Parts: sequence; structure tokens; C-alpha cells
Amino acid sequence: MPQYDFDLFTIGAGSGGVAASRRAGSYGARVAICEDSRIGGTCVHRGCVPKKLLVYGAHFHADFEDAAGYGWSVPEPTFDWTKLQAAKNKELDRLDGVYRRLLRDSGVQLIEGRGRVVDAHTVEVGGKRYTAERLLVATGSHPFLPEIPGIEHAITSDGALSLPELPRRLAIVGGGYIGVEFAGIFNALGAKVMMLLRGETVLRGFDNDIRGMLTQELRKKGIDLRPETFIRDIEKRPDGTLSLLTRMGDTLEVDAVLYATGRVPNTKGLGLEEVGVRLNERGAVQVDEWSRTSVENIYAVGDVTDRINLTPVAIAEGRALAETLFHDNPTKFDHTGVASAVFCQPPVGTVGCTENQARERYGQVDVYVSNFRPMKHTLSGRDERTMMKVIVERASGRVLGFHMVGADAPEIIQGMAVALKCGVTKKQLDATVGIHPTAAEEFVTMRDKRPDPEEAAAQERGRDAVPHAH
Ligand code: FAD
Repeated sequence: MPQYDFDLFTIGAGSGGVAASRRAGSYGARVAICEDSRIGGTCVHRGCVPKKLLVYGAHFHADFEDAAGYGWSVPEPTFDWTKLQAAKNKELDRLDGVYRRLLRDSGVQLIEGRGRVVDAHTVEVGGKRYTAERLLVATGSHPFLPEIPGIEHAITSDGALSLPELPRRLAIVGGGYIGVEFAGIFNALGAKVMMLLRGETVLRGFDNDIRGMLTQELRKKGIDLRPETFIRDIEKRPDGTLSLLTRMGDTLEVDAVLYATGRVPNTKGLGLEEVGVRLNERGAVQVDEWSRTSVENIYAVGDVTDRINLTPVAIAEGRALAETLFHDNPTKFDHTGVASAVFCQPPVGTVGCTENQARERYGQVDVYVSNFRPMKHTLSGRDERTMMKVIVERASGRVLGFHMVGADAPEIIQGMAVALKCGVTKKQLDATVGIHPTAAEEFVTMRDKRPDPEEAAAQERGRDAVPHAH
């Protein structure tokens, strides 16, 4: 008789939990997974998938406009938000079914309800207790909302994805990737969008050139960016209008306010600390490189560990864990060189170091930048530019980072991420033949280094010094 009901009990059927459980099940482990919401987690129901469907929907606005430059006469297009919502929801229902089937086919037992850790080998769901040799915490994260008066009138990305009506005027608080993605969606669908930023530019943490360029492009699209603007208080008027009082004393009137101000790991009330699992100051589960917590047989993967909060990372962490525990194949997930994208308009793709990180870590670097009007817009007339940037370690010629803002950036950067992972050098980029005519070919045809700001300044100082020396 086995000592425990299961070999692995996973809490949370999102990207990481499902991936780990299925892989473990495929190796013959006896696995159970509990979930208190829809199967598939944030990515499928409140993140990547519904967001990208809305991005596709929103992009038609520009496509109809651009078509005119190519000889098309398009009658005034109309848009129906409820139809898009219904189509999106149907797809999410389908995916919920797909995830259930995938779990079943891998022999994983799905237990619906909220899980709570009772001791290092026991999880309680809906009043019933299950034991397992190992526990996996894969509970993800939820949006953060600050405690200000009237915050109950605000929505988060969860609510924005399923608003019953399209707001006429929308304020978005936060200029991170979720904020700019929603700004792009609602702006293109016809809402008047205002973004309230902490600093001057969007996308903190990204390469500065990308940030500057995207900030400009968002403004060109009519998004009202308000730097250093903080809300003190939200008031709802009888007609439904929201009145936002800023710290500077201004009042902004909108129909909806969306907070995109970060996310919090889902660890509250899980019983983790009570059994000795250490959390960090942000409430994330602390794990080692094997995704092991401070309790020997309890593991955690995905957003709840707050490492790199992306779906493919959660999946890779989950699979690595299953390989290690159930396939005698010790596997650590390598968190370096992970590419990511921002599906704003125009989109962003990035992999590797930003220019500042590269200078800090590697000293002298060469920077290649190409900023151009994409061919498509020569006829469409759209005032939208593309920028591509390559950062190279000067001593070795190795590429340290690729960055792009412009149409198809996420698709293009995926290929560059493979090259980066393989240690591509600038010389190898130069030896690669471009595909013409594409935007992607710019990555293999950049010849001119951008003058190094420090060297240029030193030269300038040298020039100044000469007359005084004589
Ligand atoms: P989740 O997918 O959140 O899964 C955790 C699951 O645990 C949830 O289903 C939750 O209901 C469940 N759960 C929590 N507590 C309990 C409990 N006590 N008992 C039972 N079940 C519980 N990533 C990308 O790579 N690309 C993108 O384009 C992208 N876009 C995003 C857009 C938005 C708006 C958001 C919010 C996120 C986006 N992400 C994107 C991030 C991505 O969704 C997450 O990184 C990913 O879902 C993390 O997977 P996870 O398994 O850690 O957690």
C-alpha cells in the first residue's frame, strides 16, 4: 500500500501547474491537481489569450485605414464590442475543455475547489484531505490595487477583459506592459485613453531607446500620457462618471479607471508559512534553482515565485521539475536569455541585456540602431516608425541584446532569441543574408555603430583641451 494518496499534489491549474502535472503523469506518477477557478489559469482566461484576441480585434481599425492607401474603398467600419466579447468567451470555454481533456489524458485527477496546505504532505480542498509525497504550489498571482478612497470603483486587467460595455473615456494607471497593451486595445477600439504614469516614459525596465520610441508612438496614436500623475481619490457620480482627484489637485473625468500597477503572488491563506515555507517580503514563495522551497518536499513554480512572470517560463519551470522528480533527469530551468514581447501598438520584442545593463555588466559595448519608416506605410501614409537595436560586447563581438519596436516585433524577436541563446556574434549576423524586402533583414544588415556617448564626450573634451594646452 502506498504511504500517500498521490505522488504529487499540485495547487493551481494554470500554466505551470498543468505543465508539471501532465509531465509527471506521463511518467507514471500518481498526480492530483486542484483549481478553484477555470482550468488553464491566468494565461488562458485572464491574460495572454483573451488579451491577444482583443489585440487582433483592435488592430482592424488601423488595417481598414491603411487599406485606403492601397486602393481599397472601405465603407465606414462599425464595431460591436459585445460580438467580440461573445466570440472571445466562446474560445475561452473551448480552451477550458481542452485543458480538462489534457489533464485527463495524462492521468491527472482534477479536484475542483480551493486548496490549503495542512501539513507538509496534506492539502485540504472543500473539507476533504488528500495526502501526497510531494506538493507543488503553482497558484499564480493577482492584480495589485492600492488602498485609496474609492478604489472599489476601479477595474483591473481581469475586469477590463470582460467589460460589459466599451468605455468612452478610460484612464489607465501604470505604464508597464499590461498598461500599454490595454491602452492600445481600447484606443484602437475608439475609447479616449489617458495613461497616468509614475515617470516620464512607459515600460520601466526595458531598453531606454525602446521606452522613448514607444512613448512617442503612443502619443502619435492619440493616447494622452500624463507623466508623474498619481490618483488620490476616486469618486463615482450618480450618472456613473468617475471623478479622479490627483495629488496635484486636478480632477479627471472618465467612465472607467483601470489599475495596471503590478501583481501580487497568491500565497495568502494557503497555509504555507504555517508549515515552514519561506516567503519573501513581497509574499512570493522562495525557491532554489530546482524550484524547491524551504520545506524539502514542497516545490513552487510560476508567478507565485516571482522570478520571470511569463507563461512559457512557468511551463518550463514546471516541466523541469517533473523531469527532476519523476524521470531521473535532474533539470534546472535556465532563466537567462528569455525573450518577451509587449503586444501594444506598435508592438515590442526584446531579448537579452538592455544597453545600460550591457554597459554595467560587460563594460565596452557597440550599439547598432536602425530607425525607419516601414515599407507598408510608404503607401498607407501612416506615421508609424520601426526601431531595431543590437547591443554587442566589443571585446568578443558577441551579441548581448536584441530589441525592437514596430510591426511584427514579437514574431521577429523569437528568431533572434534562438541566435542569442546560441551565442551569436555580430560577425555571424553580418554573414547572414537578409530576406528582402522585410523589416527583419535590418537585424543582419546594420553596419554603422552608434557613436559611443562616453567616447564622444571624451573626444569632445580632448578637442577642447587642445587650444588651452597651447
Ligand atoms: P496562473 O496561470 O495564474 O495559474 C494559477 C492558478 O492557480 C489559477 O488558475 C488560480 O485560480 C489557481 N489558484 C490560486 N490559488 C489557488 C488555491 N488556493 N487553490 C486552487 N487553485 C488556486 N505571459 C506571457 O508569457 N505572454 C503574455 O502575453 C502575457 N500576457 C499577460 C496579460 C495579462 C493581462 C496578465 C495578467 C498576464 C499575462 N502574462 C503573459 C503572464 C502569464 O499569464 C503568467 O505568467 C502565467 O499565467 C503564470 O502561470 P502560473 O501557472 O504561475 O499561474
